Amino acid sequence: MRFTLTDEQAAFRDTVREFATEEIEPRASELDRNEEYPAEILDSLGEMGLAGLTLSEEHGGEGGDLVDLVLAIEELSAAMMPVASALALHLGVATVVERFGTDEQAERFLPEMSRFETVGALGLSEEEAGSDKLSMETTAERDGDEWVLDGHKRWVTNFLDADVVLTYARTGPDEDAPHNISAFLVPTEAFEVDHVWETLGARSVKSPKVTLADVRVPDDRRIGSVGEAYVQRSRVDVGVNVPARAVGLARAALEDAVEHVTDRRQFDERIGDFQGVRWELAEMSSQVDAARLLTLRAADLADRGRDAGQAMSTAKFYATEAAVDVTNDALQLHGGVGYTAASDVERYLRDARLLTIAGGPNALHRDTVADAVLE
Ligand SMILES: Cc1cc2nc3c(=O)[nH]c(=O)nc-3n(C[C@H](O)[C@H](O)[C@H](O)COP(=O)(O)OP(=O)(O)OC[C@H]3O[C@@H](n4cnc5c(N)ncnc54)[C@H](O)[C@@H]3O)c2cc1C
Repeated sequence: MRFTLTDEQAAFRDTVREFATEEIEPRASELDRNEEYPAEILDSLGEMGLAGLTLSEEHGGEGGDLVDLVLAIEELSAAMMPVASALALHLGVATVVERFGTDEQAERFLPEMSRFETVGALGLSEEEAGSDKLSMETTAERDGDEWVLDGHKRWVTNFLDADVVLTYARTGPDEDAPHNISAFLVPTEAFEVDHVWETLGARSVKSPKVTLADVRVPDDRRIGSVGEAYVQRSRVDVGVNVPARAVGLARAALEDAVEHVTDRRQFDERIGDFQGVRWELAEMSSQVDAARLLTLRAADLADRGRDAGQAMSTAKFYATEAAVDVTNDALQLHGGVGYTAASDVERYLRDARLLTIAGGPNALHRDTVADAVLE
């Protein structure tokens, strides 16, 4: 068993880190404050190949694995979490197209998705289908070679700048659940925007509520088998991006806290020399380590084709709660200045707070782990 990255993995991580440190981090605060979409940054990530990181080379991707994804997402999130979320959700959509779409769909959509020229967003959640996705009310009815979609989706991250939404809809009766849901790649122009929320964090990439009113979609935009899209989706492990985002935020907060307590003096001493502060840093550092190890383990298990469900859920709830704790502790160690936009830690805390909810609330991931433990 080895706990070190290969030279190739370390070099890849360093390339992403360099870009994140030089091109993203210096602009992150202002983009967040102005709620401005990081368009140029995402375009550059497309040029670097990150929008197709885990897609096969045959489809214009980089042929990377989930460990590569975790390494990249940690670096991007440490600089600016919403950049990591837009990229990861897009890759999740592209992965579903690659895994379950036809060869024709893969050829049609994936080369452009790999370069972020066609941007994907995920339309799964609805008002009545939050944690309980199978309660979705959006329907798709077949009419010849077309499907007629009717309903709404909410929290569609990156909708305003996306081109297509992977939209899940009911195509069969309740009693067939979960085999009653199909997925369609619907152009964003087909939706109407109902509401764009003001959010606590992740402010530069919006997640609006959108409506589909009798929208016709050709059958060649159906991704995966009729009725099986929800089940097929559960076989894709790109959800590991959520704990990876949490690791990035927690690490960034720890690094900023270390810098601050090293510079700041009170009572004629560096505050980092007080035992209470040293122990706090030790605790934060152990949380970052544990969160990263759990996340990499989950990715590695999935990469090796092993059942990663329990490991994914453990990483999800542990890492996201560690991110909330560590960013909050970092804010405390910054004192009053931590509570202002003059430091980054308040942004890290606001962004971290999303992650215990998105990607399925932690309560559901605890249930998955408890089921496995009690089995
Ligand atoms: C900013 C943002 C971006 C998002 N992006 C996307 C996206 O791009 N695409 C998409 O499809 N969705 C997205 N989501 C939706 C996200 O997946 C849902 O918010 C999440 O699944 C929870 O659903 P809900 O908000 O309706 O909460 P609810 O389902 O109402 O749950 C509320 C709370 O109830 C508790 N709870 C629920 N079920 C249980 C249970 N079984 N046991 C114990 N406690 C429970 C938990 O504490 C939970 O947090 C996003 C959400 C946000 C806030």
